[in-house]
Amino acid sequence: MNDAVREVEVAVVGAGQAGLSAGYFLRRAGLAPDSGFALLDHSPGPGGAWQYRWPSLTYGKAHRVHELPGMPLGDADPDRPSAEVVADYFARYEREFDLRVHRPVDVAAVREGDGGRLRVETGAGVWSARALINATGTWDRPFLPYYPGQETFLGRQLHTAGYRGAAEFSGRHVIVVGGGTSAVQLLMELAEVARTTWVTRRPPVFRSGPFNEEWGREAVATVERRVRQGLPPQSVVSVTGLAATEAVQRAEARGILRRQDMFDRITPHGVAWNDGRTLDADVILWATGFRAALDHLAPLRLREPGGGIAVDGTRVLKDPRIHLVGYGPSASTIGANRAGRTAVRDIRALLSGAPADPAHSATPVSERPLERVR
Ligand SMILES: Cc1cc2nc3c(=O)[nH]c(=O)nc-3n(C[C@H](O)[C@H](O)[C@H](O)COP(=O)(O)OP(=O)(O)OC[C@H]3O[C@@H](n4cnc5c(N)ncnc54)[C@H](O)[C@@H]3O)c2cc1C
Repeated sequence: MNDAVREVEVAVVGAGQAGLSAGYFLRRAGLAPDSGFALLDHSPGPGGAWQYRWPSLTYGKAHRVHELPGMPLGDADPDRPSAEVVADYFARYEREFDLRVHRPVDVAAVREGDGGRLRVETGAGVWSARALINATGTWDRPFLPYYPGQETFLGRQLHTAGYRGAAEFSGRHVIVVGGGTSAVQLLMELAEVARTTWVTRRPPVFRSGPFNEEWGREAVATVERRVRQGLPPQSVVSVTGLAATEAVQRAEARGILRRQDMFDRITPHGVAWNDGRTLDADVILWATGFRAALDHLAPLRLREPGGGIAVDGTRVLKDPRIHLVGYGPSASTIGANRAGRTAVRDIRALLSGAPADPAHSATPVSERPLERVR
């Protein structure tokens, strides 16, 4: 434990896609690592949440991992796990731009400090900063809904965050809960070795046709409207629908994606519906998503009555010193890239005493031209 308080202009919490993008633009803005900014991350190695993704999520199966600003990822073997490809790339990136990520450093709390500064309390000492870029993603907060009887289940329950591959479920009956992309991908994998049942709260909507720019813009705009109002961000799939890829169409034809309504309770041996139906199962796999990992910001009381933190672009409305990147509309690899740049531009203005860039406060991210980051 280091007792000295380390002073920087900007603290960046989290070194995933969003944090590294912020680091890159801070470097470009002339801030030096450790004196100008400090990047803090509590994971053991580079890669952000990608380092934890299940090995069967190969690079070829990921939706699309956008490169970080300023350095290409290069050719990657599509059969290699995304966890390895992205971790290697992030490690090279951190070296190339000398970002000096401090890890493993867990940020436990951010509080009001002295003289208008923010006090960033970590397991490795305290940093004091004039502004903070929060880039902590969602992986640390898997979301598990509660259903009556959950604690009585004698089989295994796990969240996608704990999934390591289909092999260990061979010959079992697995109930997959959730209507998102992960649920669909895992059902397709599991169906090769196990019996599967899919349950979702709402009928999933599959979307065929190209996932083009207009579609992306629409989705981002919808999430953006929510977070501007201080509501918690929605999952992107709830806005966009699921991609009906060729693999998905094949799975549908084989009956793998036939879904049932959400069950009402869990029994020791499976699940039950109020209409009298029951189903025995060995495993319940909760593919029920994640929430933003923001607990360390609680002392700053940024939450709105709607339960979310209201942001304009990336800037927190209640406290312009704080930016959320990789949050809500910027929770994708491309969104995280752009958010890093937006946050740094805004913070530079704040630190120099200039008014915030009016172009940013007036125009939602989704309505701005899709500029190239590099
Ligand atoms: C299964 C899955 C597949 C996905 N596939 C794609 C895809 O193909 N394409 C795409 O564009 N997007 C995809 N996404 C979304 C994408 O992963 C994210 O939008 C993006 O990579 C997240 O980057 P990030 O930097 O915001 O967060 P993360 O990558 O989660 O990084 C956050 C970092 O913050 C650190 N951290 C968290 N809390 C603290 C703390 N208190 N103190 C210190 N450090 C902390 C973590 O250790 C982590 O390194 C996927 C998401 C999931 C869950």
